[in-house]
Amino acid sequence: MPPDPRPIPLTSGRRAITSLQNDSVKLIRSLEMRKVRRETGLFVAEGASVLLTARDNGWSPRMLVSGPGADEGSTGVALQRWAETAGAERLDVSAAVLEKLAAKDNPQSVLGVFEQRWSSLPEPAAEPVGSSPMPPLWVVLEEIRDPGNLGTIMRTVDAAGASGIVLAGNTCDPFSREAVRASMGSVFAVPLARTDRAGLIALASGWTGDVAGTHLAGKIDYRGAGYRAPVLLIMGNEGAGLSEDVAAVCGKLVRIPMAGRLDSLNLAVATALMLFEIRRPQLSL
Ligand code: SAM
Repeated sequence: MPPDPRPIPLTSGRRAITSLQNDSVKLIRSLEMRKVRRETGLFVAEGASVLLTARDNGWSPRMLVSGPGADEGSTGVALQRWAETAGAERLDVSAAVLEKLAAKDNPQSVLGVFEQRWSSLPEPAAEPVGSSPMPPLWVVLEEIRDPGNLGTIMRTVDAAGASGIVLAGNTCDPFSREAVRASMGSVFAVPLARTDRAGLIALASGWTGDVAGTHLAGKIDYRGAGYRAPVLLIMGNEGAGLSEDVAAVCGKLVRIPMAGRLDSLNLAVATALMLFEIRRPQLSL
């Protein structure tokens, strides 16, 4: 790859990179692979507004990668300051290198590398999270497989002021590029916990509020169910729905009535309907 002809101005703590063989560039590219994300505990987030969300939620980057011109303007300067204060590695990359690091679709000119964060499972008598005045409401996603769905659900959990997400069983990775992108920065705001099916059954069995499972055979209309806090809302896998073992520990199984040809809604859509119904008493204009 020929070096980018444009000279990149440097300040202290920053490095100009024009080679795809650079170790940091190779590491960032390898974070496309789940195995590498698991081994390193790192992930990539793209775009200035997403990075500002990370900053505003108390995250610090391990690396900040800026393409040509990305450090200009007030946002560019603010991101550089944030990264410098955090002692992050700051890489000014050529357009050719950026092209290989950024998403193919709607590529961004700035990206950050972060350490993944996992929360512990909520207590059975969950308390409100952080400064939220809202009653606790945790969403469990059993065996979710689609990272686009997961990112959309992170965003919706954030928008509904829910407490966090528990990923149960064998799920897709919330720190994949697609999930992070679909979350629109909510990956930095929503606590994420994980467990296996036995852990979920133990959590649901000891839960002190309502455990509401969503099920196509549910006998209760989701609008009239009444949800006693703390609420544990359990959503099933895109193909198979809720497992029988998990459905058996739900205090109630609710259904969203439907018309038309199809037997179910998209998981992220169903989660959004449920969350905003449960939050109806707390949300107003
Ligand atoms: N064939 C699957 C089944 O039998 O459950 C459909 C799974 S659906 C695509 C994925 C998840 O979205 C379900 O497990 C449930 O949590 C939720 N869901 C979708 N449509 C729903 C509805 N009409 N009522 C309740 N939950 C629904």
